[in-house]
Amino acid sequence: MGPLTRRALAPLGAGRRSLRRLRVASLRLHGYEPRPMVRTAATDVLRARLPAVDAHNHLGRWLSGDGTWMIPDVGACLALMDELNLESVVNLDGRWGAELEANLDRYDRAHPGRFVTYCHVDWRLLSERDGPERLGASLRASVGAGAAGLKIWKDLGLEVRDRSGALVLLDDPRLSPLLATAGELGVPVVVHVGDPCAFFEPVDRYNERLEELMISPGLSLYGKPVPPMARLLEAFESAVGAHPATTFIAAHMAIAEDLAWVGRALAEHPNLAVDVGARLAEMGRQPRATRALIERFSDRVLFGADVYPMRRGEYSPLFRFFETDDEHFAYSSEPVPPQGRWSVSGIALPEELLAAVYRDNARRLIPVLGARSVVDLRAKRAARPGGTQSP
Ligand SMILES: [Zn+2]
Repeated sequence: MGPLTRRALAPLGAGRRSLRRLRVASLRLHGYEPRPMVRTAATDVLRARLPAVDAHNHLGRWLSGDGTWMIPDVGACLALMDELNLESVVNLDGRWGAELEANLDRYDRAHPGRFVTYCHVDWRLLSERDGPERLGASLRASVGAGAAGLKIWKDLGLEVRDRSGALVLLDDPRLSPLLATAGELGVPVVVHVGDPCAFFEPVDRYNERLEELMISPGLSLYGKPVPPMARLLEAFESAVGAHPATTFIAAHMAIAEDLAWVGRALAEHPNLAVDVGARLAEMGRQPRATRALIERFSDRVLFGADVYPMRRGEYSPLFRFFETDDEHFAYSSEPVPPQGRWSVSGIALPEELLAAVYRDNARRLIPVLGARSVVDLRAKRAARPGGTQSP
């Protein structure tokens, strides 16, 4: 305690003072909620300034835990999308077969242009005869049914094992027919490459995501039989390089903690793009580097929230980040920042970059979305009195 504060407290009785000291001395970090004294501009951005595509979200059943739909009420979801100015949402939860059909029925087919669903493949096929070819055939069937892309989740690299018990990584030659088929079919492959770097580190006093890992210890990869993040990145990049005709989208920017890596990989691989799902905390603590990356690769960064079930309060900081130059604001609506105790600052993208990140890049890289938006446009024009036939 400094002399000034000591003097300021002098009128208080000695008893009260020591009581206060005692309370502070026993305060735990989780109870510490400092209120910033810095005065900064605070812009409420409740709605995206331009129509946006959320290119990374989960609307299906397989992640919900109890097998129910992540979105119980599709009508309410559409109303929320309208409120937020979200034109379309990419549902990454299609799986395959009957589950894919159920997702397509509920979302894509019932509300064309508002939702597109990606499929997965069943990695158990890897242990079967002709597994690699069957993975490619599965993707072909799913895309034939209406899937807009392929999602490769983090289980590949961290958990999926072949018949011999060895972990299978993305650069495994047995995955080549699958990745090549995606290129042939013209559908993007979204890959969850690894996980936040802090999850690979010991859960100790130096870990910047300690609180999150204490709440969800299962997220920690430290000491588990998984490859280091560097190896997962290497496997991802060599698969991208080996399949130049296939569009890859690195979910969560691949490694948002190292934008130099991301920039180098984007420069070396024209068939690579990134989505920003669940990485506001990372982008917002390095706003200048993020903005420079978006300026340099303005055609290959996709907006995405990865907030499920979709919640209005979690979009607002994202919009605020892209649209304003507000400084030092919370990246989440939760009282304690869930991915580390820091604040973020905005990057105030100019209109043309905002349009690219919010919508245009998704429309170009996810052909089904682009095609559907053209169909919608045609339908709208045709419905308008005096509407033209083109384009
Ligand atoms: Zn996700």
